[in-house]
Amino acid sequence: MQSSSNKPLNVAIIGAGLGGLSAAIALRRQGHQVTVYERYDFAGEVGASLGVTPNCIKLLEQWGVDIPAAKPVSIMHMKHFTSNGLLTAVNKVDYSKFIVHNWETGEIKITADWSDYKSRFGRAYKCFHRIDLHRQLQISAFEKAGEGPACILKVNHKAVEMDPEAGIIKFENAETVTADLIVAADGIRSQSRISMGIAPKFQMSSSCCYRSIVRANTVRSLGLYEFLDNYALEYWGGHGINKIVMSPCSDGETLGFYCFYPTTHNDLREDGWNISATPEQLTDTFPTLDPRVKTLMLHAEDIKMWRLYVHEPYPYWAKGKACLLGDAEQLIQ
Ligand SMILES: Cc1cc2nc3c(=O)[nH]c(=O)nc-3n(C[C@H](O)[C@H](O)[C@H](O)COP(=O)(O)OP(=O)(O)OC[C@H]3O[C@@H](n4cnc5c(N)ncnc54)[C@H](O)[C@@H]3O)c2cc1C
Repeated sequence: MQSSSNKPLNVAIIGAGLGGLSAAIALRRQGHQVTVYERYDFAGEVGASLGVTPNCIKLLEQWGVDIPAAKPVSIMHMKHFTSNGLLTAVNKVDYSKFIVHNWETGEIKITADWSDYKSRFGRAYKCFHRIDLHRQLQISAFEKAGEGPACILKVNHKAVEMDPEAGIIKFENAETVTADLIVAADGIRSQSRISMGIAPKFQMSSSCCYRSIVRANTVRSLGLYEFLDNYALEYWGGHGINKIVMSPCSDGETLGFYCFYPTTHNDLREDGWNISATPEQLTDTFPTLDPRVKTLMLHAEDIKMWRLYVHEPYPYWAKGKACLLGDAEQLIQ
């Protein structure tokens, strides 16, 4: 976007999540001077695997993001091991299958072939670890190399107030800035939308989720090679609320899990990205699940609860010099 006079804009982005960083890269490439304000310092970044579709892969390419450095599963090297863990072969494969298992026995009910994704949609479907993708987006936004002026990052800047008409943001540390354009990408619990006169109406979803990761070395030591060799997006359940979604990321060295269950199961009221759970809490939530998956769960790391909400549509998402972006303007989460 260019201003009507073609003069570069002074843009302030609130939030350095995936949305804020993407906006920063796109705007710097148009010659704008972008500053991104993030409330934290990235020291505690968390996340699991994220599926990225071909249309988004094309954008990442256009933006010059180093996709291989974000270790997606799809251009990976498929590694074969003997039962005692010796590496026997390395092949290049595409992340090319979608597998649905029987909930209790694990028997494969459906295998969909995704190997034509590239020829049909121009790019393969890729799976990234959120932290790997976040790191590469930061490099594309803040390092000098790349089109347009490098964006500036200000960590430990929590926005507490915004005047959308005047383009002013006030931070908890008492700093105040004025911008030609404010992009509020402050996530699902966005406070900026309140400053924009939007009172979000939402309620807790009947579905809740645990997400976690298991290291490939652990999977090998458990002898569950099939989960590493499939290189697939794998589902258990999915016709009711109970659903397990598993996919490899980080060059196949990590398996990411999303485990959906009815909110009534534990009726937890806590909220946030950092609410931990134990492996036993995870397996207790799914007593009748395929025992192989429960074995993986007992060896899972970084188990976090992900509260889900249903939002009413907002009446608008831009006001004065400010607009909402990403989860901050989500209708359903
Ligand atoms: C820690 C974390 C882990 C996640 N893990 C997963 C995952 O494993 N799988 C998945 O599919 N999705 C995950 N998500 C969600 C996914 O990244 C988002 O749904 C999606 O990328 C939309 O991004 P966003 O930039 O709109 O919001 P977010 O990614 O939520 O980013 C919002 C950013 O704004 C910052 N912020 C919030 N309030 C303020 C404020 N007042 N002032 C300044 N900065 C502020 C936050 O610290 C955060 O960095 C995660 C998000 C986060 C924040």
